[in-house]
Amino acid sequence: MFVVALVCNFSGSRSSSSAKLNHWEVETLFHEFGHALHSLLSRTDYQHFSGTRVVLDLAETPSNLFEYYAWDYRVLRKFARHYSTGEVIPEKLVESMQGARKMFAATDLQRQIFYALIDQTLFGEQLSRQRDTTSVVADLKRQYASWKHVEGTHWQTRFNHLLNYGAGYYSYLYAKCFAATIWQKLCQEDPLSLATGTALRTKFMEHGGAKDPADLLTDLVGDGILQSRDGGIVPDLTSLCDEMKLEECGQEHVVLYPIETGGKKRITGLGRKNSHFCWEKA
Ligand SMILES: [Zn+2]
Repeated sequence: MFVVALVCNFSGSRSSSSAKLNHWEVETLFHEFGHALHSLLSRTDYQHFSGTRVVLDLAETPSNLFEYYAWDYRVLRKFARHYSTGEVIPEKLVESMQGARKMFAATDLQRQIFYALIDQTLFGEQLSRQRDTTSVVADLKRQYASWKHVEGTHWQTRFNHLLNYGAGYYSYLYAKCFAATIWQKLCQEDPLSLATGTALRTKFMEHGGAKDPADLLTDLVGDGILQSRDGGIVPDLTSLCDEMKLEECGQEHVVLYPIETGGKKRITGLGRKNSHFCWEKA
């Protein structure tokens, strides 16, 4: 028998009969539920390849995929109700939440890329002269971010993913791309259908880390989830770019231009070796 417990620190409720979570908490719950499901549905010969025991490039994919479920009205209407009247969450409300979500999506992506860059830099090849982490972060910010470094701040000291995800923060970006492709190609039409659930279970979750991730992803959604670059494999950006209304171009770097702002904002780069997400400098 499998038991997976999610121990969450949510705001909770004074009533024992209803849980009042804000949507950010619901999204987090769905994210963590994706991890739980990955473990629950896994059927591998060896426990060390079970569930979330996959290569880091793939570890956050089920959780990122389930975040989509937390934003889909067809899913929300099944459980989200007004705490006193019992009224099902209005579709219009969900639509405006989705609108608000898109408002700073590109900025948020840039922030995620910046975090990953810090992680890659601090764990990467070191310069011979010693440098403190604050000056490294400040330099990266000046070079790549569209916001300024504030002297006297040491943001990286509270970036706890530096320790438990050392040199692996990029995997959140990989997961974002993979999840966007899986959602669009497999789930979006009918996220709650038996066919969708069965495919996720038998072609993805069941295999844990016992199957090559490239084969697993291709078996799940077909072509268009991976791309070859510089002798390696990286996520295909098409679905994420479509979703965020970003354009992909450039040769050496994959450059993301926010269409709505007329381009020329910048995203920093990340990836393996020369494969980068990149938001070109204006
Ligand atoms: Zn996660």
